[in-house]
Amino acid sequence: MATVGIEAVLQLFAESDPSPRAYQALVRFLEVLGDYAPSPDGPATDPLAMSFQFKLLWVAGLAPNLDACTSCGDDGPLTAFSVAAGGAMCAACRDATASDVSGDALEGIRALLEAPLADATRVAPRGTSAAEMLHILEGIHAYHGGFRLRTLARQHLA
Ligand SMILES: [Zn+2]
Repeated sequence: MATVGIEAVLQLFAESDPSPRAYQALVRFLEVLGDYAPSPDGPATDPLAMSFQFKLLWVAGLAPNLDACTSCGDDGPLTAFSVAAGGAMCAACRDATASDVSGDALEGIRALLEAPLADATRVAPRGTSAAEMLHILEGIHAYHGGFRLRTLARQHLA
């Protein structure tokens, strides 16, 4: 799972633009990983791996907007998510770039962003909306970075 974190840092932060905060986050990720039992479902939907990747997006200025509609600013209910728009949307603003999202998935991403890495499994238990959260994570990577983590690619083919 360490390779997932390292690749995410390399993809999001070019060598020509070193980020001390990304480096610090990676060090912390590797520290937590030392005492961690990875998810039996694989690294793609592992809460710690997802938490680290969402935190990296935040460091990169790419964290999704989760607290209000990205388009109109309304509190919600937020029922859709658009990577192109940069976050959650209400039903009225939903457009062709958006897809359905559950409240649990939005809450899960928020929890993973806010909690310390070591608490990832506690705030987002394994399996909870993991597929939805992974879908959003991959969407942001593809849209903003034009990449997909090679270290996770094999698992997706299975
Ligand atoms: Zn709206």
